[in-house]
Amino acid sequence: MKLNVTSYGRLPTYAKCTRCKGKALVHLPSHHANFCNECFLVFFRNAVKRAMKLFPLRPRDPIMVAVSGGKDSLALWSVLTELGYYTKGLHIDLGIPGFSEASREASKQFARSRNLELSFYSLKDLFGFSLLDIRSRTHRMICSVCGMLKRQFLNRLAIQEGFSIVATGHNLDDEASRLMGNILRHRESYLAKAYPYLPAMPGVASRIKPLFRLESEEIRIYCQIQNISYVKDRCPFSKGATSHIFLESLEFLESKMPGTKRDFLFGYLETKRPPTSDETPGERCSICGAISYRNICGVCRIKEELTKRDGRIVKGKAT
Ligand code: AMP
Ligand code: ZN
Repeated sequence: MKLNVTSYGRLPTYAKCTRCKGKALVHLPSHHANFCNECFLVFFRNAVKRAMKLFPLRPRDPIMVAVSGGKDSLALWSVLTELGYYTKGLHIDLGIPGFSEASREASKQFARSRNLELSFYSLKDLFGFSLLDIRSRTHRMICSVCGMLKRQFLNRLAIQEGFSIVATGHNLDDEASRLMGNILRHRESYLAKAYPYLPAMPGVASRIKPLFRLESEEIRIYCQIQNISYVKDRCPFSKGATSHIFLESLEFLESKMPGTKRDFLFGYLETKRPPTSDETPGERCSICGAISYRNICGVCRIKEELTKRDGRIVKGKAT
């Protein structure tokens, strides 16, 4: 069979678009579909519209988009804008040498090219320590520390800027691999939060994941068609992260049985109801006031640990 190897996968030269019957350029095995570029964009936007219907938002609600400079969050920002939502981007410079500079530049360049508003913050200013500082001072898993800091600061900054909705670029692969990890380890409390929408509470913005129906590869294709330049490297601090191992295992299953990832995630979500605000912890951190299951929230506990350690280092030098 003669193959037309496009950058979007292997397609026979005569393949027709499933939607308009024109020449297909995109091959999506998990959907048993081929698309021309225009129809792929319709498919992509429909997947986001379908996700947005699941979230109890009003059409005019402003959305703060958490922008990392990677393909997912830039595609998210682009598609929400195309669908007519009012958005503002928010980028946190995490202080990861080399990677953070590139991430900031990609976010800035995208905002400039589309004439979109983007706020910048730095973790060092917000928290007193960059991710590099934290990595060199603690033995904790850096990816989970980073995730916790991002969640809390994205929320705090969105509220500070007057937004009650934060959108992140988590995609189907992220959600399916996280679900796999949590099921394998029987992490019930994490499973309770395995929903692409978390409700707002006083002082807490709702969190939405509008790309949860789209695979990583579909987002890559969208960026290519829409000419979006993004940071292609993985975060250098995430090398060896267990989330990558779960993702690779799912990729293997997907390559043998296309559609496995979506069946796994969507099948699970069908058994769940959207979480309501009374199911989330009502306790507040006694230091910073953030919603927390414990008296002191995770972020303040890390800060205490880092500060104490600093104190010991300074004392050690003086004596
Ligand atoms: P990650 O935790 O790197 O898998 O990223 C998940 C999502 O969090 C991204 O799609 C973004 O929406 C958001 N995000 C990650 N890093 C940043 C950052 N430095 N600033 C703002 N949002 C971020
Ligand atoms: Zn706290």
